[in-house]
Amino acid sequence: MDRVRLRFAPSPTGPLHIGGARSALFNYLYAKKHGGDFILRIEDTDLERSSRESEENIKDALKWIGIHWNEGIDAGGDYGPYRQTERLELYNRYVDELLEKGFAYKCYCSPQELADMREEQKSRSEMPRYDGSCRTLTKEQEEAFVAEGRKPVIRFRVPEGQDIVIDDLVRGTVTFESDGIGDYVIVKSDGIPTYNFAVVIDDSTMKISHVVRGEEHLSNTPRQVMIYQALGLEQPKFAHVSLILGKDRSKMSKRHGSTSVVNYVNAGFLPEGLVNFLVLLGWSPEGEEELFSMEELEQLFDLDRVAKNPAVFDNDKLNWINHQHIQRADDDRLTELAMPYLVQNRYLEDMDDEAAYQKVKRIVSVIKTGLDHMSQIGEKAELFFASKPLEDEKAKEIIAQDFIPGMLKQFVQALSEKEELTPEVVKKCFKETMKALDLKGKQVFMPVRIALTGVMSGPEMHELIPVLGVEEIKERIFANTEIRI
Ligand code: GLU
Repeated sequence: MDRVRLRFAPSPTGPLHIGGARSALFNYLYAKKHGGDFILRIEDTDLERSSRESEENIKDALKWIGIHWNEGIDAGGDYGPYRQTERLELYNRYVDELLEKGFAYKCYCSPQELADMREEQKSRSEMPRYDGSCRTLTKEQEEAFVAEGRKPVIRFRVPEGQDIVIDDLVRGTVTFESDGIGDYVIVKSDGIPTYNFAVVIDDSTMKISHVVRGEEHLSNTPRQVMIYQALGLEQPKFAHVSLILGKDRSKMSKRHGSTSVVNYVNAGFLPEGLVNFLVLLGWSPEGEEELFSMEELEQLFDLDRVAKNPAVFDNDKLNWINHQHIQRADDDRLTELAMPYLVQNRYLEDMDDEAAYQKVKRIVSVIKTGLDHMSQIGEKAELFFASKPLEDEKAKEIIAQDFIPGMLKQFVQALSEKEELTPEVVKKCFKETMKALDLKGKQVFMPVRIALTGVMSGPEMHELIPVLGVEEIKERIFANTEIRI
């Protein structure tokens, strides 16, 4: 197997989750790093739970993340079709071969009989598994079952007394005893193959060189390996990446934060922030640097630095990483991302208003240092759009002091004399006002804040004032204090 070919093979039974996104990313990066192919295959053999809607959602999430497949669903390629339900004929050929060679057999046990079997085994404290009742049916017995109207499943005949050894690129050598595995179903009674069978035929016929997936699939791997062996097919290399745990070390679930990618999209995370966070769930770079772009990761990533121990999903770290990527991002891009939240919060009416866009861009450029993700803009930008009503008693007291009107006039005067208001210039105006009227910092900063915002905390004044401009400042002062300047 020369060419490096990796795939992501989601089951379209729901949105793309963090664990799936990480698997997709690791496969993608490995393929990129080694100049190989990255394939998207849809594993939709669970007919009841699969939907086209989920398939679309998963594709959208992958595209948003920045994971592009050069082969597979929508992209085409030499090894299609790339949706499992469109490959049934191919699977049947291999099933026939397994049946003919005696590696598989038809099982007519009814669901009730299987349930009884399990109960009995449990009552004897045995591990529940198929007891092999249908392994050696005679032709007559089979015909009798068929006459009863029973629809068979097809089971793989697990060889007895064998060690199945997997050389895993992450976990090292892992050995399973075949005796611990009961004969498992490879084709269900409706004729649809199971995951463990279809995945082998697909990975083999699609010439997949490496299978990188979550540790939860490790116990499936011996079942798959036995099928490779029975059919004499070349196996891919396997790499099972550790589970993702919550901070309390239990398996990551909704309790620990959002598990589906779309929620991070909606919260205004940047794709490069999420990618950077996901790659560190299991992989570690060589040096101290932790912040990477996708392009950098395409060069740096490799499986030899993927750890065996579980990765811990740390929300604070995700926020920190995304915060760093926001600081690196272009203001126009951030502005585009911010606009919908501001419309949603009703600070803006129209997304296409050029003046509003320019105002938002100024706001974004000053408050991005306080943002971990873009949806926070709704809350953080509130006072840039409107003052709150002056209601707090303490604030009213402060603003009612005798020197306040003179101080505000002096301050606004200082602002209006300047050619351009920048944070530095605003700081200078505060100083000039203090000096001219012989006032202390606290006699100037808090009253200005209250006069402009109605409240005693919020954004830095030297960030707010350049965005508002002198006219709006005068209006706000009048609205809050009735002092006309
Ligand atoms: N369809 C499987 C899943 O979504 C794929 C597992 C694999 O990569 O083999 O978990």
